[in-house]
Amino acid sequence: MNKKDLYVIYGSQPQKMIKELLNSINLASQLDSGMNIALKPNLVLARPSNEGATTSPLIVEGIIQYLREHNLKSISIMEGSWVGDKTSIAYQVCGYEEISRKYNIPLIDLQRDSFREIPVGDMSLKVCNQALDVDYLINIPVLKAHCQTLFTCALKNLKGCIPNSEKRRYHSLGLHKPIAYLSSALKVDLNIVDALNGDLTFEEGGNPVQMDRIIIGQDPVLVDSYCSSLIGYTKEDIPYLKLAEELGVGQTDLNQAHIREYGIEEKKCSSFTPSRLVARLTKRVEASDACSACYGSLVHALKRLDENGLLNSINTKILIGQGYKGQLIDGLGIGNCTSKCTSHLQGCPPSAVQIVKFLEDNQ
Ligand code: SF4
Repeated sequence: MNKKDLYVIYGSQPQKMIKELLNSINLASQLDSGMNIALKPNLVLARPSNEGATTSPLIVEGIIQYLREHNLKSISIMEGSWVGDKTSIAYQVCGYEEISRKYNIPLIDLQRDSFREIPVGDMSLKVCNQALDVDYLINIPVLKAHCQTLFTCALKNLKGCIPNSEKRRYHSLGLHKPIAYLSSALKVDLNIVDALNGDLTFEEGGNPVQMDRIIIGQDPVLVDSYCSSLIGYTKEDIPYLKLAEELGVGQTDLNQAHIREYGIEEKKCSSFTPSRLVARLTKRVEASDACSACYGSLVHALKRLDENGLLNSINTKILIGQGYKGQLIDGLGIGNCTSKCTSHLQGCPPSAVQIVKFLEDNQ
């Protein structure tokens, strides 16, 4: 695996999916048995992962099983929840205490850790010592929307590795610059993105959207550039991506990425129980056996159009799903299955950013 590689797997069995991906990249070949390996999930607050805010414990458990099967024993889980929530409660509510007991793995609370100052450009950033001192850091963010930075994933997840006082300071600095600079101060070795059902609107969950995939990449800037497109944002929408690129942390150019997809046949059709918000956004959508990966992209795209005041100008029905294969039908088709629609967008699944553009162009 090199920095330009992005691995994507679709499906609904996170433990099996992550082990398949780790085998594909042959992670064990990059590690040795003496290494201290830290897993950094997103446990921003104490809510179970099915609510869209926190990292699925099944992904973390799959990583641990993979590492143990390869005789890598020195593993810890570390996190510092946001100001106002206790990490210890998040560990308990999110299922991590159970993992800790089952595999005898320590849970490190970075809210209680000491720190040191790391200079980056014209800034000095406080970073928790235990995060700085690991040999191999695996960042396991959730792909979701964020009320201030619009999007949160690999780079922003590192905010859990700084003291609470520093988290407050980041807000006073407008978030983008310190988030970018933190990615230079704290090196991540591997990013594993939980894109199973991240939140549509806020980092604290409550409106999960089923996306059913896991993404792996070494370059956190490339990972974030790709992931932001999956929920309808371009790199220009997220200033900290460009800033991190300028600092040399990684690159934003998705044309340079080598994207490998697995489990295409697992983009299962799911039955949706939409929240009130999702029902409002999808009022013009007619789905027939739509895969969760495709439908999730469409929901995120419609939310982005809604934020820009464009949702109500769509007056044509939007068709999505395998049920439309081969059908000649009037409407805006999303994905390869709707290729016989009056207008259609290719992709299997298309990203939300592609859907936004398609719907804007076909209003
Ligand atoms: S284009 Fe069709 S097969 Fe592909 S993800 Fe969408 S609904 Fe599924």
